[in-house]
Amino acid sequence: MPERYDHFINGQSVAPLEGEYFESTNPATLETLYSAARGTAADVDAAVQAAGQAFHDPRWRDLSPTKRGHLLRRLGDLVGEHAEELARMESQDNGKLLREMRGQLTTLPEYLYYYAGLADKVQGSQIPTSSVQMLNYTQREALGVVGAITPWNSPLTLTTSKLSPALAAGNTLVIKPSEYTSRTVLRLAELATEAGFPDGVINVVTGYGTEAGAPLVDHPGIAKISFTGSTATGSAIAASAASRFIGCTLELGGKSPNIVFEDADVSNAAMGVIAGIFAAAGQTCIAGSRVFAHRSIYEELLEKVAERARSIVIGDPMLETTELGPLAFAAQQEKVNSYVELGVSEGATVLTGGGRPDVELPGYFYAPTVLTGVNNCMRVTREEIFGPVAAIMPFDSEEEVLGLANDTDYGLAAGVWTQNLARAHRMARRLEAGTVWVNTYRAMSPMSPRQGFKNSGVGIEHGLESMNEYTRLKSVWINTDEGPVADPFVMRS
Ligand code: NAD
Repeated sequence: MPERYDHFINGQSVAPLEGEYFESTNPATLETLYSAARGTAADVDAAVQAAGQAFHDPRWRDLSPTKRGHLLRRLGDLVGEHAEELARMESQDNGKLLREMRGQLTTLPEYLYYYAGLADKVQGSQIPTSSVQMLNYTQREALGVVGAITPWNSPLTLTTSKLSPALAAGNTLVIKPSEYTSRTVLRLAELATEAGFPDGVINVVTGYGTEAGAPLVDHPGIAKISFTGSTATGSAIAASAASRFIGCTLELGGKSPNIVFEDADVSNAAMGVIAGIFAAAGQTCIAGSRVFAHRSIYEELLEKVAERARSIVIGDPMLETTELGPLAFAAQQEKVNSYVELGVSEGATVLTGGGRPDVELPGYFYAPTVLTGVNNCMRVTREEIFGPVAAIMPFDSEEEVLGLANDTDYGLAAGVWTQNLARAHRMARRLEAGTVWVNTYRAMSPMSPRQGFKNSGVGIEHGLESMNEYTRLKSVWINTDEGPVADPFVMRS
């Protein structure tokens, strides 16, 4: 019998009210890993009630910011101590390389430590108004219950990106992880209890998007939604949040350009292209899926990328030698394959890859694929594929490539490869993307703010700025003049 996981509500494992569970499968081996509670609106309601009570409970409400910081630091320590367990769980759940997960787990505590340090630095200011008798100051305060909804491609990191600032600011949380990756987030919540967070501060309801995610978004007890996932779901969430005038932070999809100029170190750039699109089997929001290469080095780059793509070691994500694991589930494999077929029908050539590679394991593997003969108007270059598929296109001038790179509905990230410093700064200024990397790709830190431009998101994650996403500003006026009120019909300022 596979293990069974319940919701985590008010510090305890709680069975789903309707008694239903769903199975989670290892995408490399196709073995059933465990079953998780299939949450419904009733479970969400119980979790929001618990989070609401915890928000007003003096054990949390009156805890000093410094002590909230201590709790986050202790959780960071526990995540570090359980790194191997968490890394293995996530690799088994979504097929990500264990190697990559071990790397992620060494930096994950840093997210918690960073926001632990910010917990007691959430401050307002004193405002000089036109009257010296009036003391006016602002204070930042927690919002209430935050609903956090996360995808399957990096559940631990993406959940921690939301949880850390939300808790540092004094909010409570109900988290709905992806139905493909339920258990690492449940484990994180258990570790938070072990760290000393009061019951009800962190709750997790597992289940499907429409059955558990939508009721969370629509619940009147939620003060804010923080969502990472597809642009289509983000749009529905934004509409619901707008109808109730609550805020939302949305981290959505991308179709990021990775641009290689003629003056770049082409070997390094080729590795940057590989990292951008084949790391995590291309299942990253920041995937550099549109590669633009200057015509003078186009063939050279193509050859280097294709050669490395052909030699990528595909297989069991738990092995140290593996470079590319499976896609996370069957529908994902079908989607990627249908996009490659669509590209071919639009006129593209599959230079390498396309289809399932020869791998002994029965899972949802897909070969690293390079498409040529493409242009920026095809569906394969306009829509997010979310798989290991690079479309490589030549360009002739800086102005032309800027136009092509910005000609997209998305604006999450962009890469630039050049040795020319002035050009690097020009590109960074004019690219319409929330993150621009020069001579690197996929660099990320909890200290560095991230924002999606255009259809890639709303609001900021990471960095100092993200604390504002989880607080609201109050303006307080104190009259220091104790004399009689001169004229009640005139506004004071
Ligand atoms: P998804 O939108 O299908 O699901 C994300 C989460 O939302 C899941 O937990 C799902 O159950 C839930 N959900 C689905 N429908 C819902 C609804 N109607 N109401 C409320 N919740 C609902 O996305 P996915 O396939 O899990 O993730 C892949 C997407 O996430 C890609 O588009 C990728 O680019 C994006 N992503 C973005 C970032 C970023 O930082 N910008 C990071 C990682 C992934």
